[in-house]
Amino acid sequence: MTQVNEQLVRQMVEKVLGHLQAGWSDRPPPVAGENAPPPISGSAGPRPHVQFQYSPVKMQPGRLGQFTDVGQAVAAAASAQRALMRRSLAQRDEICGLIRQIITDRCDELGRMEYEETKIGHLPHKAEKLLMAAKLARGVEGLATECFSGDHGITLEEHAPWGVIGVVTPVTHSLPTLATNAVNMIAAGNALVCNPHPHGKRVAALGAKLFNQAIHDRFGIDNLICTITEPTIESANAIFKHPDIRLLCVTGGPGVVAAALASGKRAICAGPGNPPVVVDESADLANAARCILEGASYDNNLFCTAEKEVFVVAEVWDAMMDAMAAVGAWRVAAAQMDELAKLCLESPSGGGIPHANRKYVGAEPQTIARLLGLNIPPACRLLYGETSASHPFVQAEQMMPVLPFVRCSGFEEAVELAGAAEHGYRHTSVIHSRLVDHMTHMGKEMDTTLYIKNGPSVAGNGAGGEGYGNYTIACTTGEGIATPLTFTRLRRCTMVDNLRII
Ligand code: NAD
Repeated sequence: MTQVNEQLVRQMVEKVLGHLQAGWSDRPPPVAGENAPPPISGSAGPRPHVQFQYSPVKMQPGRLGQFTDVGQAVAAAASAQRALMRRSLAQRDEICGLIRQIITDRCDELGRMEYEETKIGHLPHKAEKLLMAAKLARGVEGLATECFSGDHGITLEEHAPWGVIGVVTPVTHSLPTLATNAVNMIAAGNALVCNPHPHGKRVAALGAKLFNQAIHDRFGIDNLICTITEPTIESANAIFKHPDIRLLCVTGGPGVVAAALASGKRAICAGPGNPPVVVDESADLANAARCILEGASYDNNLFCTAEKEVFVVAEVWDAMMDAMAAVGAWRVAAAQMDELAKLCLESPSGGGIPHANRKYVGAEPQTIARLLGLNIPPACRLLYGETSASHPFVQAEQMMPVLPFVRCSGFEEAVELAGAAEHGYRHTSVIHSRLVDHMTHMGKEMDTTLYIKNGPSVAGNGAGGEGYGNYTIACTTGEGIATPLTFTRLRRCTMVDNLRII
């Protein structure tokens, strides 16, 4: 009895294998919408087995992603990407883990190096930003597959890599941006070539070297993360024009966004912001002050998401200004805000939105206070003062710990002025209120990518709020906070009239 069963099973298995290898052969394909065809007769016999040939991988061992020439960097990254595609998802996950591990274990050393090289921001926050990058950036868990199943069979849509991605990173967070970009992009199956900001090139290159070394040691793949060690506008343009780069990801101000969009390539653009805050009459002012201080002073206001101007309704104006002092911010007079604007901001000669004077971007509040002849306590993290809504400090993305406050007649005026100050970047806005209808109204009016209620701006990027985070927030082109999916292209795989098993 057992023998018969074994024989039967063997015959069935052979028949099924024969069917699988024979394919449709000379049988007519099934008619769409009708029942699946009967089993194949097997007359065609098995097809010869074809061994799939991989093209040989030409790696340049020992470069560890350090290049001066864009062409060589792209060729090396392309080779590394082909090697990555022969690895499993679990191994991609491990590679992301290696990057997270390095920036966690060496956050103090790398953070200090970033601070010493860029000379902007607040030293203790540099290591924290690397820890945030390790914790908040999405990896392979952020990939997804969609499936459609019906009378005509099964269709899968999968998120495939682009290949080699051309990346530009800002001076405000050089290595943190490279690290989160690398985690997202590699999780999605890509390699990258990065043109870092010239003032953050050394820490970016060292980060890439450490990442590549670890990846090479573990998986034998080199140059998955390539950096241009002497980056210039010309090398950025060479990346933008390179025929083997089909996707760009730029994080920076209006200039680089315009250049990437003019390249003719698809570009993920994480452009500038000027996040306004509205404080209404219902707000918990002590909480609002704590949150505004935390967000606006973090790394001396370098985050693109950081609170950049505050609109307060007249009813709570005095109490709010006092609340800011109570949490340790230093109030300066309106005339002193004008004086600081002359020194710390610049207006374009042909008119337009004023911008920060590079000399004071990310400066400590004590340094800026000294411009006014003030000696403020070392623990103070923020200067603030009253301005008009049209004041340069309101209009400019100042990126320094000086926060203008504007007195508004009521909530609607506050939201209107906040909308004007945001300049249509659709980046980030914040409200402090207990009124749900106010929150809803402002959310609709602002139409920003991040909208934070009753918390510091950083909470909208995963730090102290729910959800993942990233240093690339593609507000300009609309992809939002970058994830692995941001760096994929959709591919569809369709099985007609079969494999639906219900
Ligand atoms: P930046 O625009 O001066 O430089 C950004 C990068 O672009 C640098 O690598 C720079 O070398 C390069 N670059 C500048 N002009 C270029 C051009 N014409 N062609 C090619 N490359 C060019 O900005 P930054 O001072 O380094 O960073 C601060 C700016 O970045 C702020 O505006 C801030 O809001 C923005 N930012 C946005 C995000 C976001 O996620 N949306 C994140 C961080 C910073």
